[in-house]
Amino acid sequence: MSSKRKRSGESLSAISSQDLAEELLKRLYARRLEIAHLLRSLNGQTHQVSQPMFQHWAKRFTLAGEVRDAIDEGQFLIHYQPQVNLRTRKLVGFEALVRWRHPKRGLVSPCDFVSVAEETGLIVPLGDWVLDQACRQLSSWRDEIPGADSLQMHVNMASAQIGRPDTPILVEDCLQRYNLPPNALHLEITETSVIEKPEVAARVLEELRQANVHVWLDDFGIGHSCLGSLHQFALSGLKIDRSFVGQMEQPNSGLITKAIIALAHNLELQVTAEGIETPRQAEELERWGCEYGQGYYFSKPVPASAAAKYIVAQTLVGLEQANYAQAPSSSGFPPMMVV
Ligand code: C2E
Ligand code: MG
Ligand code: MG
Repeated sequence: MSSKRKRSGESLSAISSQDLAEELLKRLYARRLEIAHLLRSLNGQTHQVSQPMFQHWAKRFTLAGEVRDAIDEGQFLIHYQPQVNLRTRKLVGFEALVRWRHPKRGLVSPCDFVSVAEETGLIVPLGDWVLDQACRQLSSWRDEIPGADSLQMHVNMASAQIGRPDTPILVEDCLQRYNLPPNALHLEITETSVIEKPEVAARVLEELRQANVHVWLDDFGIGHSCLGSLHQFALSGLKIDRSFVGQMEQPNSGLITKAIIALAHNLELQVTAEGIETPRQAEELERWGCEYGQGYYFSKPVPASAAAKYIVAQTLVGLEQANYAQAPSSSGFPPMMVV
């Protein structure tokens, strides 16, 4: 790296989000002039950048600066969504889902900032933080709540994390830090992660498998749906995207969902259905052999304190059923928690 570049990199990390946005816009403006000049020299035309296009990118620059500051200022938190065994209806674990407690905008959904974090590489420190916090939380539940000692935690991993050769070491360090067995941790990746850097991803996934950490393919059925990745990479299971589950009462989506479950089982992969919202969907998926389910029918993602109450309620329901052989409630679950 040239000394000039290095200096500009250092100065960028030292300035506030407002100044960063201004600095980036200035650089963008300079680049725009350069590009327009280059194009003119190629074919004699002037190329305009439209105002909405400029505003779109300017907004993303500002957001990137805010996300970076929010990481430094600890404005992120995690909500936990229960995952259940569809046959027994018992809680098996949670998926950790990040949220941003924005000082002005309130609780911001990951849909509004994860893509910017991915584009800027900020997803790596953010994802590492989520992994650490989710493992810490799981460890404390397993230690402190009777009957919670076999709960698992699912953590989403971005492409940049899966494409990083030291990820397996980082994951193992985290498990050791919180005294967790490796098979308590389930990482969720998307097909994009394995397509972007297939060789590194294959190595990372294989090392994770050797370390006994489970890896799931998330949002299966949308995006590239590269079937080759199902047997080429070391996976434990796949998660059927909620767009299929939401429409499974329609004949075609139902057939696709059924076919995905059969395909996964033929490849010795387990299946979780995402976005279960009705008892009928849960029953149908169970009948089709889908092992696990997650969705608003069971619970929305909830803060850690509500998730702890959920675990306790689950344990009590289990005990009551064992002691008094009571019939389960409609979903076999304690009342839904909607926050
Ligand atoms: P995902 O990993 O596929 O997570 C499932 C999403 O579906 C969550 O949205 C969850 O709230 C939502 N969901 C679950 N059940 C239902 C349901 O029954 N109905 C409906 N309508 N939605 C349901 P959320 O929390 O907004 O997260 C969106 C996405 O953001 C996640 O999709 C994941 O791709 C990304 N994300 C969240 N946390 C992280 C993280 O820590 N790291 C990375 N890299 N990505 C994350
Ligand atoms: Mg996920
Ligand atoms: Mg998903």
